[in-house]
Amino acid sequence: MNETLEIQNPSLIQDLILSGKDFKKEFTKVEDVPYFDCSYQRFLGKYIAEDDTVLIIYAEGIRYQEKLIHPEFIEDKLIFKLGTKKYTIEEIDYILKVENLKQYFPIATNFFGKPIRFVHAVDGVSFKLEKGKTIGVVGESGCGKTTLGRTILKLYKKTAGDIFFEGKDVSQVKGKNLRKLRCDMQLIFQDPYSSLSPKMTIGAIISEAVRAHHIVPKEDVREYTFQIMEKCGLQRHYYDRYPHEFSGGQRQRICIARALAVKPKLVVCDEPVSALDVSIQAQIINLLKKLQKESNLTYIFISHDLSVVKYISDTIAVMYLGSLVEIGSKKDIFATPLHPYTEALFSAVPIPDPTVKMKRIILEGDLPSPANPPKGCKFHTRCSRCMEICKEKTPQLKQMDDGHYVACHLYQEQVDETKEEKDNL
Ligand code: SF4
Repeated sequence: MNETLEIQNPSLIQDLILSGKDFKKEFTKVEDVPYFDCSYQRFLGKYIAEDDTVLIIYAEGIRYQEKLIHPEFIEDKLIFKLGTKKYTIEEIDYILKVENLKQYFPIATNFFGKPIRFVHAVDGVSFKLEKGKTIGVVGESGCGKTTLGRTILKLYKKTAGDIFFEGKDVSQVKGKNLRKLRCDMQLIFQDPYSSLSPKMTIGAIISEAVRAHHIVPKEDVREYTFQIMEKCGLQRHYYDRYPHEFSGGQRQRICIARALAVKPKLVVCDEPVSALDVSIQAQIINLLKKLQKESNLTYIFISHDLSVVKYISDTIAVMYLGSLVEIGSKKDIFATPLHPYTEALFSAVPIPDPTVKMKRIILEGDLPSPANPPKGCKFHTRCSRCMEICKEKTPQLKQMDDGHYVACHLYQEQVDETKEEKDNL
């Protein structure tokens, strides 16, 4: 197992890397590494030492200092020393990058039929997702979670922003490549009752896309379908049965088998267990985890059940009225939720310890209309810590900790002060 090294001052490390003159000449090679720069994050790369130690570097700014380290290329690998250790660069495999994604739906038109009013279902969302990992998207009903998932899958035509899947701009994918993309990105629906055709047998449901996309030769389709069914905990003799003969949990297994049959890389799980009994929920979640491990699948897991999200996710993104208000690792979000909305949301998660007294934060008021979102911070109409600035200025996502971002004016000053201190160094 890899050991992860924690870096206390990541931006300093970046300064050191960028400072070497020879290295500067070679810097374009570093940009080939997953260099990611968008409104909320700047990421430099992942470094792996010879002893398998992993070093991950995030940074907020680029400045040049005295040359302090001596990176060099050995056999086409960039090597640099940090303390007594040697590091080489290895690319982080980001399967999905979403940048400033917007999805507006027109709700009123003018005399000439031109849309004049819109529902801001997704409003400037950015995040990136590492291959084989799970991002949990949480928030109240109507916050835009499902629309986000469907826009990423290209089921809706995005209003603005970019979606990169395996480095390719999804909006540019057409024809044969779009068919391939449809296989690579799959969706598991919330309702296993209405998402299966009652007129088709289980075998026909699972094998339909296998035939259409020529996943395996025609003569092997039946055997391949059996294999997928078994992988998802369905017995072979279910092949000729119909969906109405099955329970909710089994139907959801059929939906999962249908999605996996086309060998996807990314699966959007849209509330996959909310329509199921609690006892069945655990089985389905465990099945999803098992399949992820076996096939290195990447999940976008949309749910309002925070306990389920906690169990399955690596990263958690909190949405409110179409925007991300906080994003970070599962550990950070559960241990130290920063945004007042996240605090309220997570205060409702039951703690399985009778000695711990829960402090539930009850939010007042309803979710404002996404057709007419409040000015400034969208949460200010319900926030108990609202300040004057919150009513005027929209807070931007700012990094508080490695990979932990929050959009709230309560922390804005703190972030600005830290930045100023670094600039003065
Ligand atoms: Fe509350 Fe202001 Fe933070 Fe919005 S920006 S969550 S209103 S404190």
